[in-house]
Amino acid sequence: MSNLETAPEEVVCESEESVAGLEVLVPREVPLGGVRAMTVRRTLPQKRRSLIGAWCFLDHYGPDLVPESGGMNVARHPHTGLATVSWLFTGTIAHRDSAGFAATVRPGEVNLMVAGRGISHQEFSTPKTTILHGAQLWFALPEATRHMAPTFEHYAPEPVRGEGSELKVFLGALAGSASPVKTYTPPLVGAEAVLHAGARLELDLDPSFEHGILVDTGDVRLDGGVLPVDHLGYLPTGRTRVVLEAGNTPARILLIGGEPLGEQIVMWWNFVGRTHQEVASYRAAWQAEIGAEPAQEQDAGTYPDGAPFPRFGPFPDGMPAPLPAPVLPNVQLRPRG
Ligand code: MN
Repeated sequence: MSNLETAPEEVVCESEESVAGLEVLVPREVPLGGVRAMTVRRTLPQKRRSLIGAWCFLDHYGPDLVPESGGMNVARHPHTGLATVSWLFTGTIAHRDSAGFAATVRPGEVNLMVAGRGISHQEFSTPKTTILHGAQLWFALPEATRHMAPTFEHYAPEPVRGEGSELKVFLGALAGSASPVKTYTPPLVGAEAVLHAGARLELDLDPSFEHGILVDTGDVRLDGGVLPVDHLGYLPTGRTRVVLEAGNTPARILLIGGEPLGEQIVMWWNFVGRTHQEVASYRAAWQAEIGAEPAQEQDAGTYPDGAPFPRFGPFPDGMPAPLPAPVLPNVQLRPRG
């Protein structure tokens, strides 16, 4: 998925609430762009919270009737310094990237794309998809791996069944289930939990992690309060346990978490870097590689940071036109985290 806002430096949500003493991040409706713009609910990043562990971006969407919403139509766009995590509840998405991976994203199966020093990809909901419902998350890569070659991995977790609950751990480890997917970032976790009406799910947490709980469906009681649907409850480090209880209807949540990244990042449009200048160079490279602006700095087949030219290519011919980058803001992008 791509951040298609025209002023993406303002991709921050300003509102937050508190439920039973928990910080709750309030979703913001963001059109994904294009002629038929499907809308997503963005809970990360926020003005006062850029990261939960290494997680830096959370878009939640649907269930949408694709004939009405237009579905996901995100043409080729670039990423750097992050990994994208696609997780669907309903529908399918066709993914294709410049590292040579083509994949069908299906419900209950994680697709992780590690951008490293640069990748480009496109994502389209498949023609047979009539309802689209899911999430796209990004996590930032640390200094040690952010210049790595891009890669892609797929994994279908085996559900962990409890009394009235089902847990799918797609990244990291939780409740005795460990994902084999390599994340190249400080330890983190990502999981979906489904609770039957009235069911209770108790999870042991790693106290070195901070966590976020996104409510997709149902009344989810946590710490004596009810987390509103589409909101993201924040649990700071030091927690060893969380108890989730469903109300009178079934509930579904996504749980994310991880060790605090411990690094400040500059995030703009679809790029994660460390400085304004670095992000500006990623933008210039993308614009040059798609022919939208003259080339500035690649020389002898390599960029100054060692990335090969083209940083975001190659890409097969005959695909929908790539998305040009928005104009950079006049002010310096600020590191956050
Ligand atoms: Mn994307």
